[in-house]
Amino acid sequence: MFDEHWDWLSHEFRQTISSIKDFVYQEIIPLETELRNTSFREMLPVLDKKRELVKELGFWLPQIPKEYGGMGLSLQEYGYVSEFLGRSSLGHYVFNCQAPDAGNMEILIEHGTDDQKTRFLEPLLAGKIRSCFSMTEPDAPGSNPTWLNTKASKENGNYIINGRKWFTSAADGAEFAIVMAVTNPEQDKHKRASMIIVPTSTSGFNNIGNIPVMGSQGSDWGSHSEIKYDNCTVPETNLLGIEGEAFTIAQNRLGPGRIHHCMRWIGIAERAFELMCERAVSRRITRTAFLADQQTIQNWVAESRAEINSNRLMVLDTAMKIDKFGTYASRREISLIKFQVANMLQKVLDRSIQVHGALGMTDHTPLAYWFSQLHV
Ligand SMILES: Cc1cc2nc3c(=O)[nH]c(=O)nc-3n(C[C@H](O)[C@H](O)[C@H](O)COP(=O)(O)OP(=O)(O)OC[C@H]3O[C@@H](n4cnc5c(N)ncnc54)[C@H](O)[C@@H]3O)c2cc1C
Repeated sequence: MFDEHWDWLSHEFRQTISSIKDFVYQEIIPLETELRNTSFREMLPVLDKKRELVKELGFWLPQIPKEYGGMGLSLQEYGYVSEFLGRSSLGHYVFNCQAPDAGNMEILIEHGTDDQKTRFLEPLLAGKIRSCFSMTEPDAPGSNPTWLNTKASKENGNYIINGRKWFTSAADGAEFAIVMAVTNPEQDKHKRASMIIVPTSTSGFNNIGNIPVMGSQGSDWGSHSEIKYDNCTVPETNLLGIEGEAFTIAQNRLGPGRIHHCMRWIGIAERAFELMCERAVSRRITRTAFLADQQTIQNWVAESRAEINSNRLMVLDTAMKIDKFGTYASRREISLIKFQVANMLQKVLDRSIQVHGALGMTDHTPLAYWFSQLHV
């Protein structure tokens, strides 16, 4: 929803959102039919063309400061943009603000050395390469990121990394990973791990393969890999930020990242809502009645509308607080939106799938993909 009453936004910015919305509906959503019949990797040439168009329109990297070639939007402004990009699973990718690259760009800007920025950040910003973020392990609880088994020991000016990670999203085809590994085991639990940049061509970076998720292994950006780090050796200069500070950097990465995710989820909920309404008014259930005539369906529509609207306000309020007071001061709001919006999205997607009947289970709409692939 892009309402006229949002007059606290400048006229210029409202036009920008409107143009981005048009681009998503006219240039990106029509590609979804092709994506259903092919792999993400095979779509890359056509997606690259769309990315060029986005650059020409001046909408490239909406979340990145102007001095790094982005649009320089505030987090709250980016929230509005992210909602419209979320209407399609390809939206963020085409504007080069997809996870996990967006978060990696942010921490490289914040903590990268000049050399790291030249080698890793610049090609990432240009959309020439992709990256991944390797934190979660099969043998440790990802919900407690102070507990990691992967170790990086220092020897002769190098870090030697050993351990197993999984759900390293988009590792397939990525040029480098930002890995969280324990470098200082004797320290307090929040000071044990560091972030280390590992080019995926490094010997000992073993991509075991893409993990099947509900029947699909995916490919390229649309996949999640298991990685074995087997004496994987990189120079000490690949340390990102200060040694032992991975936990703090990860927390800072996740704060704005939640806004990106939540607004994307709201965009998905809006699209699911649109599809639900279209189906409800077009599907006849008798010669004289449509699905939309039934009270249960009307309730689902009304409840979904109210839930999407209220969740949007909650996320934008959190973004505003982060913009004004920072991530730490906003940590409670950040935690609240994470489960609140995820639950809302699950409900709206489920209702939309139900309204579509058997069609909702197929890949003829994006609903089943979203239901199986979204994560919190
Ligand atoms: C699609 C997808 C993409 C991902 N991409 C990445 C990525 O790119 N890089 C990366 O490093 N990781 C990634 N992850 C991993 C993700 O970060 C972890 O799955 C998440 O942190 C949870 O960790 P876990 O799976 O080990 O669950 P666990 O920590 O084992 O938790 C299991 C369940 O217990 C719940 N739980 C935990 N503690 C409590 C508690 N105190 N009270 C009640 N319940 C609790 C959790 O919420 C969860 O539901 C991805 C995951 C998915 C599904």
